[in-house]
Amino acid sequence: MTRPGRRILFLGPPGAGKGTQASMLARALGVPHVSTGDMLRAAVAADTELGRRAAAIMARGDLVPDELVVSLVRERLDEPDAVCGYLLDGFPRNVAQAEALDEAVGDDAIEVVILLEVPEGELVARLLRRAAEQGRVDDNEETIRNRLRVYRRETEPLVAHYGNRVVSVDGVGTIDEVFARIVLALARTR
Ligand code: ADP
Repeated sequence: MTRPGRRILFLGPPGAGKGTQASMLARALGVPHVSTGDMLRAAVAADTELGRRAAAIMARGDLVPDELVVSLVRERLDEPDAVCGYLLDGFPRNVAQAEALDEAVGDDAIEVVILLEVPEGELVARLLRRAAEQGRVDDNEETIRNRLRVYRRETEPLVAHYGNRVVSVDGVGTIDEVFARIVLALARTR
């Protein structure tokens, strides 16, 4: 079904700052920030059936099975607050998930894909810093390397899937600098 409003997707490697930027942009646009990482971490914290299935997989930096995240996202996008648009962050993460999303919302429902780009060395440094600060279980060096590998192999091919809807944004700089670039890039797509 085609919906009114803005439907935006954030793409980029772990550590690129997607979560931070996506939540700022969602607030600015007044659309819900739909983050599968946040939803899965909440499920783990609440020790739900889904959380129990996902915990070990997430701790390794591997992808949780498609059917679990796909149904999570489908349910979330059916909530009334998503009628006027949404901002997807961390989903889709592979071509099968992108195809499931196309089927759920329509092939051209996603209007803009913001690809947040940060060099690999900087990503690892940022993730190690976050590991020291926040103690996220999936932020140790070996898991970080695995998440980057999984990103290159599974998620990067989505750039081709979304073709000319993809807008690249340089993710190196302060949070406010990067946010300004995103807003500008988005304005150009109107
Ligand atoms: P990051 O952007 O730092 O990689 P996320 O918060 O997006 O972290 O996701 C953390 C973990 O949650 C991933 O490493 C993966 O195990 C799981 N996950 C999140 N989104 C998905 C998804 N769409 N499909 C499969 N697994 C996912």
